[in-house]
Amino acid sequence: ARQASGPGAQRPMVPGVKAIVAVASGKGGVGKSTTATNLALALSTLKLKVGILDADIYGPSQPRMMGITGRPGSPDGKTLTPMENFGVKCMSMGFLIAEDTPMIWRGPMVQSALSQMLRDVDWGELDVLVVDMPPGTGDAQLTMAQQVPLAGAVIVSTPQDIALLDARKGLNMFRKVDVPVFGIVENMSLYLCPNCGHEAHIFGHGGARKEAEKLGMDFLGELPLDIEIRETSDSGRPIVVSHPDSPHAKAYVAIAEKV
Ligand code: ADP
Repeated sequence: ARQASGPGAQRPMVPGVKAIVAVASGKGGVGKSTTATNLALALSTLKLKVGILDADIYGPSQPRMMGITGRPGSPDGKTLTPMENFGVKCMSMGFLIAEDTPMIWRGPMVQSALSQMLRDVDWGELDVLVVDMPPGTGDAQLTMAQQVPLAGAVIVSTPQDIALLDARKGLNMFRKVDVPVFGIVENMSLYLCPNCGHEAHIFGHGGARKEAEKLGMDFLGELPLDIEIRETSDSGRPIVVSHPDSPHAKAYVAIAEKV
């Protein structure tokens, strides 16, 4: 339907890529990258050909979370070959600059870097390209959402973030550019004590589900604040691949099935 009408029809598609799904958040630090990585890997377990594009130019996380080091090659001198791990292709600004180099580019340079990472990367045939969006809902995000023919967006939020209406801003941003929002994932929804198993609702709980209902959006699922999620994603062995039978991995797969 989106090819037939609306602004989406004018946006050039990325060659070989069937659908692009954005993972976004109203602000940083809510677990957007962790969700994007695990969602990409979960989609891959559903037998889809998957890639992940780290569009977080200023704070790329995907090299670390996907456990990939090195530099992408360019056999023809024009296109970049994406890196790959766990059967998922990956491109990130993090592969092209040193980890401790601060990015001080201005908006237009960021935009051109992003379109290069989309169009000058030889993604091959992909069923889904997951885009780890830059945090926030400013100009860069809006342009990104406009530039790329997105099939839809997943909004990641912590319970208190919802209270601050940041996720609602994200929803409005995508609505503005006619991108369907698949729904909300509530991250860090409760804390599971690794010693005694006690559940503490540090940031409150259930806010995203209620807010999603109010906004007429789907609630895609929730993930607790759990040391295992942090350790696995920060060490490059995300929980979906390192502990595929864990309840958290299953929660990510359940989200992937809804996307
Ligand atoms: P964002 O992309 O929104 O800035 P990240 O995905 O980089 O956030 O997550 C920020 C930090 O929080 C990372 O160290 C990550 O491992 C950790 N983290 C994310 N989600 C969880 C979770 N559910 N439980 C524990 N730690 C988490």
